[in-house]
Amino acid sequence: MHTLLGKAAQGTLEDETLIRLDHISKSYGPSEVLKDVSLEIRKGEFVSVLGPSGSGKSTLFNIITGLVPADKGTLQVNGEIGYMQQKDLLLPWKTVLDNIVLPLDLKGSDKKASRAKADSLIDRVGLRGYEHCYPSQLSGGMKQRASFLRTFLSSGEIMLLDEPFGALDSITKGSMQAWLLEVQEALDVTILFITHDIEEAIFLSDRIYVLSSRPGVVKEEIAVGFGSENKRERLVDPELLRMK
Ligand code: ADP
Ligand code: MG
Repeated sequence: MHTLLGKAAQGTLEDETLIRLDHISKSYGPSEVLKDVSLEIRKGEFVSVLGPSGSGKSTLFNIITGLVPADKGTLQVNGEIGYMQQKDLLLPWKTVLDNIVLPLDLKGSDKKASRAKADSLIDRVGLRGYEHCYPSQLSGGMKQRASFLRTFLSSGEIMLLDEPFGALDSITKGSMQAWLLEVQEALDVTILFITHDIEEAIFLSDRIYVLSSRPGVVKEEIAVGFGSENKRERLVDPELLRMK
């Protein structure tokens, strides 16, 4: 566990809590983007941060990943975070497999071992047969799955995804959502998912934090408990899947 910011950490994180934000605020000049945001993500959860465009979702993401410092508050992270940014690009001149293992190559990991690890998960992300293609030969959903695997391989147990399906058409998006729930369970990963799409948040999440903006007032966070049991019921209910 390390505290990335702020005064003394407020006690030690319980084992099950992987990320905890307490009273985080952030301004850009006179504009207060985040005010007094607190949230917590526990092991195994799928948690969404939902908010309209401009509500500070990516700012919150950048604070959690350590890319941007907060002005006030405390952030505690228990474990290695991997993240997929809003525009998470694959390098066009590298093959799918080389893109997937790039962070491991940059870390100086053993190349053969990295490729073997990636290969063992290629079926899971539905990219078997495409390993040696270039990104331009993939569909939008395939590119997102390649990005996801790249993030997963270089992260520990927590993944932060900033609007990963935002640019996909609604049919691809629906199948990617179902895929993400399956893969989350199979890989046993904890996910913080950022979206402006309320239906997407409801479909995917165990809990949702809402970043709301009211002029002159603070951002609020509201936890809504849907419960993972409920989520799995939704996943297997063909009627509901058809509606998506
Ligand atoms: P979201 O991801 O919810 O769309 P952002 O976190 O990207 O929201 O942005 C929230 C607000 O902060 C917006 O008004 C945006 O213009 C502003 N903002 C974001 N990053 C910066 C920055 N680096 N400098 C100045 N303003 C910024
Ligand atoms: Mg954003």
